[in-house]
Amino acid sequence: MTCDFAIIVVGGGHAGAEAAHAAARLGAPTALITLDPATIGAMSCNPAIGGVGKGQIVREIDAMGGLMGLAADASGIQFRMLNRSKGPAVWGPRCQSDRHAYAAWIQAALARTPNLTVVPGEVVDVLTKDGRTAGVRLATGQELTCQAVIVTCGTFLAGLMHVGETTFPGGRYGEPAAEGLSDSLRACGLTLDRLKTGTCPRLAAETIDTDRCTRQDGDPDPQAFSFVNESLQVEQIPCWLSATNQAIHDVIRANFHRAPLFTGQIQSTGPRYCPSLETKIHRFPDRPSHQVFIEPEGRDTNWTYINGISTSLPEDVQDIIVHNIRGLENAEILRYGYAIEYDFAQPTQLTSALETKAAAGLYLAGQINGTTGYEEAAALGLMAGANAALKLAGRDELVLRRDQAYIGVMIDDLVTKGVNEPYRMFTSRAEHRLRLRADNADRRLTEIGRAVGLVDDERWARFQRGGAAASEVETVLAATRVDGKTLAGRFQQPDATAEGIFALADSPTAQRLTDLRAAQPKAVDSRLVDLRYAGYLEKEAAALKHMQQLDAKLIPGEIDYAAISHLRHEAIEKLSDVRPRSLGQALRVSGITPADITVLGVYLASQAARPGE
Ligand code: FAD
Repeated sequence: MTCDFAIIVVGGGHAGAEAAHAAARLGAPTALITLDPATIGAMSCNPAIGGVGKGQIVREIDAMGGLMGLAADASGIQFRMLNRSKGPAVWGPRCQSDRHAYAAWIQAALARTPNLTVVPGEVVDVLTKDGRTAGVRLATGQELTCQAVIVTCGTFLAGLMHVGETTFPGGRYGEPAAEGLSDSLRACGLTLDRLKTGTCPRLAAETIDTDRCTRQDGDPDPQAFSFVNESLQVEQIPCWLSATNQAIHDVIRANFHRAPLFTGQIQSTGPRYCPSLETKIHRFPDRPSHQVFIEPEGRDTNWTYINGISTSLPEDVQDIIVHNIRGLENAEILRYGYAIEYDFAQPTQLTSALETKAAAGLYLAGQINGTTGYEEAAALGLMAGANAALKLAGRDELVLRRDQAYIGVMIDDLVTKGVNEPYRMFTSRAEHRLRLRADNADRRLTEIGRAVGLVDDERWARFQRGGAAASEVETVLAATRVDGKTLAGRFQQPDATAEGIFALADSPTAQRLTDLRAAQPKAVDSRLVDLRYAGYLEKEAAALKHMQQLDAKLIPGEIDYAAISHLRHEAIEKLSDVRPRSLGQALRVSGITPADITVLGVYLASQAARPGE
């Protein structure tokens, strides 16, 4: 039987856009079905991409041919490298985005992607046939058939919005909730739960007195997210800083009894590291003020995002909060802050390829997996889209290890441990963060993306040019000795600079190094960071090798843990529940001990040794 499409992606947010693009790029005839195509790529909350941990993810998406980095470069209005005072391992590229330009760029990119059709509509049912995912039904009753479905519904599934005592269904401001699909996902065998997130009020720029705020400019040398953009020519727009004060905190405290977060009106858990203002006042009663970031939402709009005061307090309380912030005394509120509760699926129900264990051919990506943030969603989308297409083509799944990518860390965390609050990326989640830097994401992932088919010829050629220049620099530095020590070794000195160390060589060598760096600055500088960390990386190598060996020992999907003698009862239960793909992942399941892994390893070896099997 022929299908309408090979793959159907439900939802056009950050996950949906990357999933559809990746699947189509791999040659699968793909449909992206979304409630309103004009909102594809919309930023539901803050108009910004990247940050610490998140910026690394954007570079990784880009290194594998995804869209987010290119869209951010094309629509950014202010670029900053966060954490610059710390080592390059934890630098986080971030940009303030023009919200409309960002979405328009994504929509245009999808429109010119071969094999991809955008279909307006609400999916209410995932259809199955003979135990396999077989299509979707729209609210109109129309059915579309396919071989795999990727659900990326973000905050829309049974979305319930809160502003003070008022609640109303919705997926995000001004857009309807998706009501039908949750029951269908349950019927596919998934268990759904609830999470919560919230957003800040938006103000009219012309009513903000920026003279009373502190100006925050972008970097003088804005760094591109995408590896295909060597530099950025962009006119940057300033943001502004202000702060809450004691009077505001008193008003909020006096209105705790009207705060949906405290009255029991909101039942679910929100992101701990992105708390509402009322939560901050409650949790940190002694803090005299909290910083407020006043961020333009674009070049041609007066809408301004007030970062730091996410709230679902009633509108009259939000009026008082805003008008007591320095510089915002006369500000006009264009939209009040609100909170939203939505359905999500505990991600332990997914394989490492983001396919549901309950229903073959059904994939989940984005906020529905319990994450928060555009970057996390986009990365999950890319991986789900690629994996759905690879599986249909009978090819190996694409699973990144924890030492290869933040994306690998995130997916491993999600499918192994699940979430009890919205999951966002931090550098502290990555045990190999000296390797997982923003600057070397292309070296970690572009080759993998190319092998899979995600990386186009232009990106690949660029990557090779950069690599050739950087390798030559590395070779010359290793071979050049000054006072008995190689130039490469000198990069481990804390105050080492490229200019200073190149200058130690004879002048033709120094000139050659300088020329190579001028021609390929990103690639060469990234290699110099490797030299700086060489000592640490070497020390880590043995532990890393052991972990890689465990990650390479795959566990057959159909294994019966109960049949393994000497495996503890708790281990049988937990491993049967998570069904890890490798010994490495099994070791990361909570409650699993190294002794359990030894027992499991011996069992797998004995099975492999059995003749005829
Ligand atoms: P979304 O961007 O939500 O996109 C979902 C898409 O699915 C939409 O295109 C929608 O139209 C479509 N869709 C849904 N249901 C259906 C259906 N049945 N049929 C067809 N199409 C459907 N992130 C942070 O990092 N920090 C924050 O503080 C933060 N606060 C937020 C506050 C609010 C109020 C909201 C709404 C979001 C917030 N976010 C925050 C989250 C951020 O917006 C998401 O993480 C990100 O957008 C998730 O991307 P996604 O692709 O999974 O889903």
